[in-house]
Amino acid sequence: ELANLLEVKATDVITKLIKLGIMANINQEIKFETAEKIAVDYDILLEREPEEEEEIDFIVEGDKDEDLEHRPPIVTVMGHVDHGKTSLLDAIRDTRVTDKEAGGITQHIGASEVTVSGKKIVFLDTPGHEAFTEMRSRGAKVTDIAILVVAADDGIMPQTVEAINHAKAAKVPIIVAINKIDKPGANIDRVRQELSEHEILVEEWGGDVIDVPVSALKGENIDTLLEMVLLVAEVEELKANPNRAAVGTVIESNLDKGRGPVATVIVTNGTLKVGDPIVAGASFGKVRAMINDKGKRIKKAGPSTPVEILGLNEVPNAGNQFVVPSSDKAAKALGEKRKEKIRDEQLKASSKISLEDLFDKMQQGEFKELNIIVKADVQGSVQAVRQSIEKLSNEEVSVRVIHGGVGAITESDIMLASASNAIVIGFNVRPSTGAKTIAEREQVDMRTYRIIYEAIEDIEKAMKGMLDPEF
Ligand code: GDP
Repeated sequence: ELANLLEVKATDVITKLIKLGIMANINQEIKFETAEKIAVDYDILLEREPEEEEEIDFIVEGDKDEDLEHRPPIVTVMGHVDHGKTSLLDAIRDTRVTDKEAGGITQHIGASEVTVSGKKIVFLDTPGHEAFTEMRSRGAKVTDIAILVVAADDGIMPQTVEAINHAKAAKVPIIVAINKIDKPGANIDRVRQELSEHEILVEEWGGDVIDVPVSALKGENIDTLLEMVLLVAEVEELKANPNRAAVGTVIESNLDKGRGPVATVIVTNGTLKVGDPIVAGASFGKVRAMINDKGKRIKKAGPSTPVEILGLNEVPNAGNQFVVPSSDKAAKALGEKRKEKIRDEQLKASSKISLEDLFDKMQQGEFKELNIIVKADVQGSVQAVRQSIEKLSNEEVSVRVIHGGVGAITESDIMLASASNAIVIGFNVRPSTGAKTIAEREQVDMRTYRIIYEAIEDIEKAMKGMLDPEF
């Protein structure tokens, strides 16, 4: 089909696919990104059908099972403020970075690799669910496993609940690190019980979530925690094909005075090499140099490797996907094309769900799950709303409250809504100023009510296509 569109021979397209590391046959479906790369070789720019997603998966099609190899897990640490996220990351690095010959000091590039029993684990350096969801709202899924840190003397706190819901919304498996067990007030069982109230059932409680009591301060049980990460990674069967052109995600970027645009990327599939043409978001160039988390220059970076790259023409955004096109010319064309598309998208109305267009989307049969975030002034209202809202589910659409909490509508709520295509509902609470700005930018439908009944009625009407438009 692609060959016909390009008016070339199918065998030519297949040859090009093979060069990209994709052993395709004539009936095989290929991804848009792949087709795009082939088409630019013929000086043709492809337009994506509007409803298709920009996301490039960890596993790109075309990789045969026998080409796939295990890749290291990429881990984000989440939890309530002061529960020890930073300390835990430090403890992990302290116990593991003993590799003096690798160059000594760990360099901050946004992610770091540790080796446990000969196996690698990659940690994202910016802890917290905010960073995680921010990336996700840009279509990037760079976390395989979330470590949820809960201080044993403090128990589950509001941001713990947020972290749980953010990880769940992204369908990322959770490992719980019950931290600060060295403290006199530590109560591991209470943490487990509180977790169960948020549908996290640890093994001791008959569930399947792994928890590890640790002390980040004393470095206690950190090894066990890391072993558990490897165990979960094994169950998840994280795989990639190192022998193909690289794809991945930008996790950090900046403009360096001496070195120009610098981006830290994580390779999610394939192998990135010095000299590769590259397009990251709308920026493009050639990989001039790569530096790993130990500050060492490397020539190749395989699946799950975080590396700093030099050679882009401008600074890409965190969350941008990168690909390696077949030539420098193709990279330039694709970069320019993407830039145009970003401009178009900014002009176009967003595709985020709103109560107004809920009915239309349902009619088109493409909308099956209405996600809602509820914020209220008291816990009782959150519960009451959750129950009444979820009862609205019918055959066409299931209504789910993906996060509920007490307090103002925050930026983090909006980012979760944006990443999960959810609507935000507030009762007797207002959005913070930041939340308001971001809701506008992300086109998130945010509504505040004083009476629960009115919210339920609005959603009910919206589901029937009878909601009066808001002016
Ligand atoms: P974050 O906000 O989650 O990143 O938390 P931090 O890592 O900054 O830790 C907050 C405070 O808790 C700091 O004063 C740490 O020294 C302390 N802390 C972290 N882990 C432990 C621990 O295992 N035991 C004790 N006693 N204190 C800890």
